[in-house]
Amino acid sequence: MKVAETLCLKEYGLRGILTLLGGHNENFLLETPAGTRYVLKVAGADEPSALFDLEYAMAEALHAADLGLAVPRLIPTHEGQFEACYETPAGTTLRGRLLTFVDGRPWNEAGLPTPDRLRHLGRMLAQVHRVFATVEHPAARRTHRWDLAQATQVRPLIPLVPDEEQRRLVDRAMHVYAACAAPRLAALPHGLLHGDVNDENVLVDGDRITGLIDFGDALHGPLVCDLAIGFAYALLDQSDPLAAGAEVVAGYHAERALTEDELAVLVPLVLGRLSTTVLIAAERRTHTPEHPTWYITEDAAWDLLSHLVPLDPAEAGARLAEPTGLDPFPEREEDVDALLDQRARFVNPALSLAYREPIRMVRGQGQYLFDQRGRPFLDLVNNVCHVGHCHPRVVEAGQRQMARLNTNTRYLYDGLTDYAERLVATLPDPLEVCFFVNSGSEANELALRLARTYTGRNDMLVVDGAYHGHTSSLIALSPYKFMGAGGTGHPEPWVHIVPVADGYRGPHKGQGRDAGTAYGDEVGRVIEEAGAPVAGFISESLLGCGGQVIPPEGYFETAYQHVRAAGGVCIADEVQVGFGRVGTHFWAFEMQGVVPDIVVMGKPIGNGHPMAAVVTTRAIADAFANGMEFFATFGGNPVSCAIGLAVLDVIRDEGLQVHALTVGTRLRDGLRGLMTRHELIGDVRGAGLFIGVELVRDRATLEPAAEEATDLVNRLKARGLLLSTDGPLHNVIKIKPPMVLTADDADLAVRLFDEELVAF
Ligand code: PMP
Repeated sequence: MKVAETLCLKEYGLRGILTLLGGHNENFLLETPAGTRYVLKVAGADEPSALFDLEYAMAEALHAADLGLAVPRLIPTHEGQFEACYETPAGTTLRGRLLTFVDGRPWNEAGLPTPDRLRHLGRMLAQVHRVFATVEHPAARRTHRWDLAQATQVRPLIPLVPDEEQRRLVDRAMHVYAACAAPRLAALPHGLLHGDVNDENVLVDGDRITGLIDFGDALHGPLVCDLAIGFAYALLDQSDPLAAGAEVVAGYHAERALTEDELAVLVPLVLGRLSTTVLIAAERRTHTPEHPTWYITEDAAWDLLSHLVPLDPAEAGARLAEPTGLDPFPEREEDVDALLDQRARFVNPALSLAYREPIRMVRGQGQYLFDQRGRPFLDLVNNVCHVGHCHPRVVEAGQRQMARLNTNTRYLYDGLTDYAERLVATLPDPLEVCFFVNSGSEANELALRLARTYTGRNDMLVVDGAYHGHTSSLIALSPYKFMGAGGTGHPEPWVHIVPVADGYRGPHKGQGRDAGTAYGDEVGRVIEEAGAPVAGFISESLLGCGGQVIPPEGYFETAYQHVRAAGGVCIADEVQVGFGRVGTHFWAFEMQGVVPDIVVMGKPIGNGHPMAAVVTTRAIADAFANGMEFFATFGGNPVSCAIGLAVLDVIRDEGLQVHALTVGTRLRDGLRGLMTRHELIGDVRGAGLFIGVELVRDRATLEPAAEEATDLVNRLKARGLLLSTDGPLHNVIKIKPPMVLTADDADLAVRLFDEELVAF
């Protein structure tokens, strides 16, 4: 205090009574004997002086605009500086700035706002934004702890909330923010923001807004963030927060027209701001419990969260948007039952639907899918949208090429050869010749023909429980199908089944590397028993439909040795597991140091665009070129090649392979950590973002917990996670998300698994 007094005297020639003001920062009220009041703000160590310059520019612009809005104006020191520096006798430097005191009643002391005051708040904010558009300052290009555009930064604080119900609430709020707001912000109108339009910083007189103070959180960002912050506080303690919100929107929209995309993110942004408030309060409480002014809005924020979180984002967003006449969620009224009826009438009944209550999806972005009610689902199971749903670079590449040329491989075009070269560069020698088709089934069908043509033989070896495609030959080569519902129940004579190399179950379980060799030798045994020469052996490099199995080390080396010694070829089906998913390698077969003769690629190759490929050796490709033309109308068309190239570019540029290793390991370890608390989890295994959680009723007998697995998947779906079950015993939860899954998403998934597993 004494030092602050000296600073006022020395730098500003002002003497008076100093009192400490509330709030998070060290601010003093200075009252001179003549009755003039100022605010002295002591600068934090990390507050750069350039920010004071920005603050000055903002306040002066608002003052000059004459909006009828009082703002604090910076008083220069004797020497004409906005920042005063004072060397204390103790040798430390005190930095501060002096501002005019703005008289007025803060919003939070003025009672519940009337609709008029709410409208005025909106109008004032839009006017302020218009004025701020004239201020350009480099110091505004920054972020800070309360930056609403970066609110996911506080997500790791969720475990600090002691109350379980509250923790669930803020988890959900952050999930909605992260899915519905964060990824859309970059594309929204940006400008200079006040950054903290909270209920202490807005001054009112009756229904009029008379002042705006505290520019210390100013930054450049999406304009709608300011609205959402002003909004969050205006909604506190309201009996119908959305009606109140609609008034603020109406006021803002009348001054600056909001877009549908801005309206769509408002509620999720409010959830982000309220979450930031309660999470930073939770964090502060762990250090400084006795500072009550820090927790002023906390209770009201929790109340508002519990009101807003259960609402459908689309319903809530549409209500807020009402006064604008815009509808950011046009699909919300669609009737799911009508769609089910239509499907039953017109679509093949053999198609199944996921979940007990099917979801009608309307949008996808990154690792999220959204239903018609705007509810986000974290997609933990779709390995097709490898680099994220609707990745803008992939979409753009496809659109651009589609508008320019789409033809077939009977003409020359650069895309085909460029793409083939890039794909081959990801593979070890001697895999060097590409074939392009349209689906995993088509690719496996072709692989089968290649193997048969090259060897002149017919019989095939396949792993128990495997699925390789839906054509006639491939159903015959998929025990998953012919041994399952509706299947014949036995293999055709040309199909020979080898056991799954499962380290958790089966004859060689728990034997480590020895299990790899032992299971590999089973392949040799089946070859001997086959009674006919085999053309080849087909296996996924990690088994997907077979139950997310990671074959023990050494398995493929031994298995391939037996197959090759018998004159067959080795086919690696990388449809589910390729393109960097396993993290350590680009192709999953590389994990075991083997090189197949034929590699089959599908699903992720086009990020959802229907394409697939087979890559093989020169010798096998040459044997296939026996005079019969190979032509697939759509295979390798210029649009597919452009998309395939974009997918490879994104994997490289976004470092998704390494990312899959980091996030996948975190997720797998997090789920493994749950095994001590939940007996139901028998095994958690995985490589990168390919993970399986096997549920058992008894860890000794390994009795499969199939119903529990289905139940858990449906429960987690209700919490916003998409998963599925698989494996021959239907008790393995499959995890193979888009590769853009974040560490926060992984942590959320672990928390939700933990909470839902309590029910079993
Ligand atoms: N192989 C594997 C390992 C698969 O998982 C699938 C599809 N589930 C296929 C092949 C067949 O691919 P598609 O559905 O594209 O024909």
